[in-house]
Amino acid sequence: MIDLHIHTTYSDGADNLIEVLKKAEALKLEVISITDHDNCKAYRELNKINVKQYYSGKIIPGIEIKCSYQGRLIEVLGYKINTDKMQSWADEYYKDKTKEMLQQKYFDLTYENCVNNGLILPPKQEIAFDAKKDWASLTIYKELVKNEINKTKAEPDLLDDFNTFSKKYCGNKNHFLYIDKTKDYPDLQMVIDKIRESNGLVFMPHLFIYRWTENKKDFIDKLLKDYKVDGIECMHSEFSEEEISYLLELCDKRGYYKSGGSDYHGVNKPGVELAIGKGNLNIPREMIKNWED
Ligand SMILES: [Zn+2]
Repeated sequence: MIDLHIHTTYSDGADNLIEVLKKAEALKLEVISITDHDNCKAYRELNKINVKQYYSGKIIPGIEIKCSYQGRLIEVLGYKINTDKMQSWADEYYKDKTKEMLQQKYFDLTYENCVNNGLILPPKQEIAFDAKKDWASLTIYKELVKNEINKTKAEPDLLDDFNTFSKKYCGNKNHFLYIDKTKDYPDLQMVIDKIRESNGLVFMPHLFIYRWTENKKDFIDKLLKDYKVDGIECMHSEFSEEEISYLLELCDKRGYYKSGGSDYHGVNKPGVELAIGKGNLNIPREMIKNWED
């Protein structure tokens, strides 16, 4: 059994690297890949420690990078990358795109969008907002609901709950609350190029999870037609049996490499366990034998 899609505390995972290694050892996983978002810092740590003390299997260097594709955000996996090269690029690319900088920008934009559209907010400097810790949309939402009059100023359900506010309105391209975040990320072609420049293989993860796609199979076809990738993540915690079969067959037909992973985040993604996902994931090493070395 293998797991090539794992997050640690170097991104939004709950377990630190050592904890992940120990869990992988306990499950006797033959091959793993740490695929933190937008960085390879786990590999810097791996280079400093005696890995075999915690985990005796094989580790394929990996990363998962968020990027823009047709006005939306999707993700790409890079495997067998030179993690130093990849990290040098990430250091440079993300240096002015820290969470703090982005959340401050989103806070300012959301504040303006609200005020310009008749919603009532206190003066900006009176709102407690720490861009390092807080989330812009949640902070503004909490301020908006404090003033009853805001419920009469826009859609009747706008302030019903945070999920409606953020998913139905902030995420809706045609709503005044929408912010285009795609420019804060590299585009798909740039990410593909950077993975290749780091001597890596380009894999497309969880192609069936993007809810905004009207027809998932058409979306997959178009993406694979327009971009040259090496492989596809065929097994993932969120996939149905039918989706797994579809992708395995697609790889066989078109000659893509196959991979699979749980997308483990520890307690930050409840219900998804290392390697077994929602309980029934069992990714065979056989699947990666034509590219793992
Ligand atoms: Zn992931």
